[in-house]
Amino acid sequence: MAKIICKFCNAENEDSRERCFSCNAPLPKSSALSVEDEKSLENFIQSTEKSLLSAKSKADTVTFSLFFLIAIFWVIASFAAYRNFKDERVMVIVLSIVMGIVAFIFFGGLIGHFERKAMRKAFNEKILQTISEYLKATGYTSADFQYVCGKVLTEKSPLLSFLNEI
Ligand SMILES: [Zn+2]
Repeated sequence: MAKIICKFCNAENEDSRERCFSCNAPLPKSSALSVEDEKSLENFIQSTEKSLLSAKSKADTVTFSLFFLIAIFWVIASFAAYRNFKDERVMVIVLSIVMGIVAFIFFGGLIGHFERKAMRKAFNEKILQTISEYLKATGYTSADFQYVCGKVLTEKSPLLSFLNEI
């Protein structure tokens, strides 16, 4: 029989107990998974995490490209104005700087907002489906899944923060 150490009073409990015999605090559920089961769940979780990370970096690339396009457009527009309005160059320069700042703040906020929204939506649907299909196919419970997630994922993991959100 495995033992569970109470994290509040350090008492040793039988793993069949739901609450600490000494201080009555709730104990973490022990897992009935074998080492092999845990290993295969762990592999699945790691690969899900990997695909989340690559989706994130793809979305970052799209955001960066849009920023780059805005910057190019701004440079071309400023340059054209500078060449065409020879008598009002000071005003053109001032306007172009103001325009650039406004465009970057406005579009930057807008793009960032929609990127995050689109990414979250894609994650939700795709990943929830992948996880539930996997659990259905293998017969592991979602408690098993969460147990192994808590063991292998770090605090900064995108999968963990995704799971905490839903
Ligand atoms: Zn206790």
